[in-house]
Amino acid sequence: MTLRLSLAALALTSVALPAMAQEINVYSHRQPELIQPLVDAFTAETGIKVNVAFVDKGMAERLTAEGDRSPADLVLTVDIARLTQIVDAGVTQPVTWAVMEANIPAALRDAGNQWFGLTSRARIVYASKDRVADGEVTTYEDLADPKWKGRICIRSGTNDYNVALTAAVLAHHGEEATKAWLEGVKANLAKKPNGGDRDQVKAIAAGECDIAIGNTYYIGQMMNDPEQRPAAETVRIVFPTFTDGGTHLNVSGVALTKAAPNKDNALKFMEWLSGDAAQAIYAETNSEYPVKPGVKRSDLVASWGEFTPDAMPLTEVAKLRPAALKLIEEVNFDG
Ligand code: FE
Repeated sequence: MTLRLSLAALALTSVALPAMAQEINVYSHRQPELIQPLVDAFTAETGIKVNVAFVDKGMAERLTAEGDRSPADLVLTVDIARLTQIVDAGVTQPVTWAVMEANIPAALRDAGNQWFGLTSRARIVYASKDRVADGEVTTYEDLADPKWKGRICIRSGTNDYNVALTAAVLAHHGEEATKAWLEGVKANLAKKPNGGDRDQVKAIAAGECDIAIGNTYYIGQMMNDPEQRPAAETVRIVFPTFTDGGTHLNVSGVALTKAAPNKDNALKFMEWLSGDAAQAIYAETNSEYPVKPGVKRSDLVASWGEFTPDAMPLTEVAKLRPAALKLIEEVNFDG
């Protein structure tokens, strides 16, 4: 009797386990169409199915509410802010893995191994080819110069990308100078902040402003879209630097959840995302900078030229986000 029971139990186990083990669940803040080519390639290579749930808002809250019963194994998201939020909420677990550490430079992953950058993007200046001369804008600090009065477009100051940029200004120059910088940039705006980064490119094309601040990959996305390409072709990419540093970078990244019901396969996917095949897909389809040393940039991204990334650690920048947001609200940047 006992033997039969154990055999039955064994049979159940051997049937149930492989089925469960060959699937992982990802909560993604990244748009489904950006993630799909990666998921398809990984599944084709490993047979592991990847279920992706698009989570636009409240990632940390959702994982907190789900607790140990969360079906999510991994979180894919953009911006140091969002990565930091889920770590601070205590819903991730560290991954100590030599391959990940070898693939991803230390500056682009959490010192405590809670999150790993998978791509990087620079927050740069889009400059009108017609109305802005080469070398006319070279630093972030310069954006507050009155010579740009009525000539700058930017999305909302409270957008994560702009909060991170402001936090980087804060890390370099302190509170007083950052407040003055925000006031200076605000005074130079051609119109109230609205829309996304691509809308600022379109505003330059329409002659509403001469320079705008945005992320590199949006130009790639626009160039690959026949409808948006003409607008993108009116601008040049300029990599500004801080007067005492380099160009501001941000990341998209991944974190393993605390619950991770399919941890082993989730780790395989994580590792795969940092490897050559995935890094090349990110580079080609998303126009982002691969984090893995030696992986080629897309031809378009390479055509933008070299730049020096700012040396300020992203974790330092992330810590200053609340202070940066406070200053953005204090100067009523969007008002
Ligand atoms: Fe974006």
